[in-house]
Amino acid sequence: METNIDSPKYQGQRNQMVSKLESLGINDKNVLIALNNVPRHLFMDPGLISHSYKNNAYPIESGQTISQPYTVAFQTQLIKCKQGDKVLEIGTGSGYQTAILSYLGFDVFTIERDVTLFKKSSLIFKNLSIKIKMNLFADGHLGIKDSAPFDGIIVTAAAKEIPKNLMNQLRVGGRMVIPIGEEDQTMYRFTRIDKSKFKKEEFGQFKFVPMVKGK
Ligand code: SAH
Repeated sequence: METNIDSPKYQGQRNQMVSKLESLGINDKNVLIALNNVPRHLFMDPGLISHSYKNNAYPIESGQTISQPYTVAFQTQLIKCKQGDKVLEIGTGSGYQTAILSYLGFDVFTIERDVTLFKKSSLIFKNLSIKIKMNLFADGHLGIKDSAPFDGIIVTAAAKEIPKNLMNQLRVGGRMVIPIGEEDQTMYRFTRIDKSKFKKEEFGQFKFVPMVKGK
């Protein structure tokens, strides 16, 4: 990734953001390093750039949001993937979470249903030379059958129920991290034990924009 669009000022703000995330319980070293290196200000709405390193979600185009840094770190930590793993993200949005996954050396597949955000994030990935295996303009509920199975799936929009297709696209031993619910959502991690068995774990309450059917 090119970093010449960065500055010592932003690096300083990122150091502080990462200290804050550590104090909130993020302890995966690689995740902290990724958040310390990916310039979030390049994924923000231009009018909100001065807020880039605050631990908040902010509006982006199409009424969507760039996730809170804590949430990005928390979900990334929960999928427990390592370099070279195949990871599917649902909800590219600004592309910030995608860039974090790419920085960690994962083979990243990402899906966005909104054409404006899809085009914008595609351009950012190209301009910053962020390596993505595949970014698709499609309904994430379908996953990517031809590229499955995935070691990790990270859903960054609120699902009403467990998306069956996505569960089926996890490899045995793979993990899906997904917020499920209407007003507020519970963060779940599903680990595939075998063909039909999944372990389900709960990780507290979060707030996401809804996962919408179709594109
Ligand atoms: N990871 C993003 C989060 C963006 S918000 C970031 O940090 O910027 C969630 C995104 O999910 C939105 O861009 C929304 O358009 C997208 N989304 C909602 N439903 C979807 C679906 N069915 N398939 C793919 N993307 C979806």
